[in-house]
Formats: sequence, structure tokens, C-alpha cells
Amino acid sequence: MNNDLNNERRGITLVLSSPSGAGKTSLSRKLLERNKKLFLSVSCTTRPPRPGEINESDYFFIEESKFNEMQKNNEFLESAKVFDHYYGTPKKPIMDALDSGMDILFDIDWQGTQQLMNSLQDDLIKVFVLPPSAKELERRLLQRNQDSDEIVKGRMSKASNEISHYAEYDYIIINENFEESLSKIESIIIAEGLKRSRQIKIQDTIDNLLKDL
Ligand code: 5GP
Repeated sequence: MNNDLNNERRGITLVLSSPSGAGKTSLSRKLLERNKKLFLSVSCTTRPPRPGEINESDYFFIEESKFNEMQKNNEFLESAKVFDHYYGTPKKPIMDALDSGMDILFDIDWQGTQQLMNSLQDDLIKVFVLPPSAKELERRLLQRNQDSDEIVKGRMSKASNEISHYAEYDYIIINENFEESLSKIESIIIAEGLKRSRQIKIQDTIDNLLKDL
């Protein structure tokens, strides 16, 4: 993706939410690989790591006591209980990344999105990713092969509650084809970056243009 315009515009904060297993994490990873100005907000969680997950890269895997302490010290931008574990977005890395002009990607659920809305308001671009069908969602959860059958069943039964929050999002992507979904998200980033309100140097550009007319 061409990032030439990025120095001329305010950073973008984009949240990707979806029922577990809809493909959001794979989409996030690819987006980060292809867009060097995009910074992933790595959450803290009290959930144990799945096979292959790396501490500090996928999540900061922490004890519940540490989570409570961070919460008490107001170190989270938002936090929520999802399934049986706590999740939270650490504040400092986000503020540092925004200060250095990065775009931020949040991979969080609808509860976290609502809380982020309180601080970021119109600056937050909200994208909801849906699976093409319930059958496909189940297939992807089973294929992931990282969770027990019981956990997969639990996630399936919670999917309808998560999907019921779709109307709180600006954009909906039905993730049938990975590459297509990816380019749809990149199109959203490009279009949002072109919004007048994000083009912080546009007045100088217009002044220069008018001077020569
Ligand atoms: P998983 O355990 O499958 O990695 O994540 C379960 C759910 O928690 C997903 O919907 C994911 O987006 C959400 N989640 C991950 N990190 C955070 C966070 O920091 N805050 C909130 N509110 N949700 C999160």
C-alpha cells in the first residue's frame, strides 16, 4: 500500500472486531506485514497462550493479579472480560505510537470498541468482520486446532451475541475471500486518510495553489 500521504495526515486508529474465528487475526497480521506505518496494539490477557502464540507479540500473557494491578493504576485504555478471561489495551504504547505518527490497529471485541469510542470518538474507524456462514465459522474454529471441542462450542454459541453488535460499526466485511477482504480494509484506510479532516496540511496546499492562480 502506498503510504506517501501519511506524513500529511493525522494518524488513523482502526478497530477490527469479529466473532472469534472469522479470520480477523490473520487479516491483522497480513495488514501489518504490508503496511509498515501500521502499529498493532498488543493486548494484555489473562488467557493462557495457545500453541504457537508468542508472548509480547500476540499478547502480553499476564497473571490476573498483574492485570488487576494495571487496572488499578489506570494503565489500560480499555479492558473487558471476554469468555472467561480478562483482556486490556495498554495505554502507553498507543500514545507513543500516535505521537510518532503511526496508524494504530486494534484487534478487540465490541466491548473494547465501545470504550475506545469514549476517548477517540470520530477518530476511531470501526470495521466488523463476519464469516460467510455459521458452518464456515465452525470449520475455521475447528481447523485452528488450538482450542478444545468444548471451547469451540462455547465460541460458536457466543458468536450470535457478538454479531448482534454489528450496527455499532462503520464498515462490515464478509470474509469469504482473504485477499479480497484484505484489499477492502486497505481501501478503507486509504479513503479515511483522504478525508479532509485528516489532511492536516491541506490549508497550506490550498494557499499555495491559490497564490499561483
Ligand atoms: P482470543 O482469546 O481468541 O485471542 O480473543 C477473544 C476475543 O477477545 C476476540 O474477540 C478479541 O478481539 C478480543 N480481545 C483481544 N484483546 C482485547 C482487548 O485488549 N480488549 C478487548 N476488549 N477485547 C480484546
